[in-house]
Amino acid sequence: MRTVTVVGASLAGLHSVQQLRQQGFDGRIVVVGDEPHRPYDRPPLSKGFLAGRAAVDDLWLCDEDDHDELDAEWLLGVRAEQLDPATGRVRLSNGAEIDSDGVVIATGGKASRLPGTEDMRGLHTVRTIEDAIALRAELTSGAGEVVVVGAGWIGAEIASTCHEFGLHVTLVEAGDVPLSRTLGDAMGSVFAALHTDHGVSLRCGNRVGGITHVSDRNGRRVTGIWLTDGTQLPADVVVMGIGMRPATDWLAGSGLTLDNGVLCDPGCVTELPSVVAVGDVARYRTATGGTVRHEHWTNAAEQPATAIRNLLAGATVEHYRPSGYVWSDQYGVRLQVAGELGQPDEVEVVDGSPSDRRFVVAYRSGGDTVGVLAMNNPKLFTRMRKQLANRVPSP
Ligand SMILES: Cc1cc2nc3c(=O)[nH]c(=O)nc-3n(C[C@H](O)[C@H](O)[C@H](O)COP(=O)(O)OP(=O)(O)OC[C@H]3O[C@@H](n4cnc5c(N)ncnc54)[C@H](O)[C@@H]3O)c2cc1C
Repeated sequence: MRTVTVVGASLAGLHSVQQLRQQGFDGRIVVVGDEPHRPYDRPPLSKGFLAGRAAVDDLWLCDEDDHDELDAEWLLGVRAEQLDPATGRVRLSNGAEIDSDGVVIATGGKASRLPGTEDMRGLHTVRTIEDAIALRAELTSGAGEVVVVGAGWIGAEIASTCHEFGLHVTLVEAGDVPLSRTLGDAMGSVFAALHTDHGVSLRCGNRVGGITHVSDRNGRRVTGIWLTDGTQLPADVVVMGIGMRPATDWLAGSGLTLDNGVLCDPGCVTELPSVVAVGDVARYRTATGGTVRHEHWTNAAEQPATAIRNLLAGATVEHYRPSGYVWSDQYGVRLQVAGELGQPDEVEVVDGSPSDRRFVVAYRSGGDTVGVLAMNNPKLFTRMRKQLANRVPSP
């Protein structure tokens, strides 16, 4: 293998380059990224960076020296537009073509928006540095009412940061309880209380029924949203935290199966043995016959080790084993999750108490602890996470 092209210059892309070098690949590495930046960290975009407590320079995932050491060609501000399955050639938006012996798909995803709102001022998503800068500018220039749509991790963090700015925040959630699909109803309710105890108005069981706006010579500007229960919420700023779409459009015609991500085997290898997928874009088969795609930091950082091993071996010699670690910071508390919280038989508070906002909860299945959730209790969490790492089987 002489040339490997990594498409996507973010967390999973960077870790893929690092793994290629660590695992002894001494050929040419070309990294293609459609953002103009070198790899940066996204978690602060909804937290400290949005709040103004961190600067752009705090976001870079590696410094200039690390870059030089990796000895890769970084083509930034350039989009991959096509992958030829027969030759491995990657065609770029600047007209260039890269003949590749191996390809790593690390294109993550783009934030979802409500259809028809693309050009509407005052309506934001948060996925990139530019998104966070634009949102912060509006939050700090006279906005009073903010509506955040979606009470998942990112929506909840944005609501918390808006609250930090002293704004009146309404958080709209389609489910009856925030995060109940991930954490279950009981623990989801703890997170619901976190919002309401801070004065954030939580509207569960509601979807966006419509968006109101005014038009002037600068175009359309949002003025609020209608909920499906008929309530109208006025808003100076609306933030959509309604998830992301895996960035697979450039792979149309590649022959790869694109189904809410790039389908790959348990070792992150696609239908083409010389093409692997990693990070938010990768949907891999599990040992139980299902498929799963993760959207969190630790997965994007850990998955490349397995994917690159298999790419360099030319076959799947190792299966990916996720640690399932996720964290979130909201209202001054740190939340940590590891393992599988899925559908446990039992959920038990093993330390502290939810009412004190300092606790650890064990999720059990068949008598075994399969997942752990902690709020402001990193020490015990870390101990239980280590125990889990030795026990949780591959999904
Ligand atoms: C606001 C925010 C807060 C978050 N907070 C947390 C947190 O607290 N905890 C946690 O565990 N996770 C968090 N995450 C999730 C975590 O950041 C992601 O899981 C991680 O960034 C995924 O990395 P990735 O490299 O797979 O994808 P991405 O980071 O999405 O990177 C993909 C890159 O590929 C580029 N690209 C796409 N298509 C093309 C193309 N055709 N050609 C070239 N380049 C292309 C994209 O522009 C992007 O630069 C957060 C995410 C966001 C957005």
